[in-house]
Amino acid sequence: MDIDIARLLESAELIHEKSGASLCRVTHAGQSMVLKLFASGPEATEVRAYELLQSLRVPTARGAYQLLIRLDREQTITVGKLGTFRFPAGCYVYTGSAMNGIEARVRRHLSNRKRIRWHVDFLLEHARIIRYAIRESSVREECELNARTLALPGASVPVKGFGSSDCRCVSHLVYFAHEPDI
Ligand SMILES: [Zn+2]
Repeated sequence: MDIDIARLLESAELIHEKSGASLCRVTHAGQSMVLKLFASGPEATEVRAYELLQSLRVPTARGAYQLLIRLDREQTITVGKLGTFRFPAGCYVYTGSAMNGIEARVRRHLSNRKRIRWHVDFLLEHARIIRYAIRESSVREECELNARTLALPGASVPVKGFGSSDCRCVSHLVYFAHEPDI
């Protein structure tokens, strides 16, 4: 998904502004979304970085989610008791589920201040979420979603057992050298 940031900014409506970052409501692909800008405001001519966040309508929704994570530089990261691994630069798709409030879970992942709890938290200490998707469902679908991601061209498993302690999947983290089209 290519994002025309200049075009998005034309329709941006400022919601919240604080030092270094501002949140705007924008319409992208027919959907109302939240654009997080790391600049002085929507009028800023130079946007340093941005995140496009899907607005979440149902606060208590449950289901599966996927985080598209970018790691700019290769890093060696210790993932709790799982071990220490080399993470090549590129994109990672993490698939998880929250059967008890998916919005809260994703917000937690997006937050910079949190207690390290899940495997993905260790990776997110060094990387950033550039996009996420949510699929509301009353049944667990994360493994199926994860399997479909792993079947995409260019997909590989970077670390066995990552995020998959509770299921039979090899890993719930999938690596792509280039941003996948999901
Ligand atoms: Zn699984």
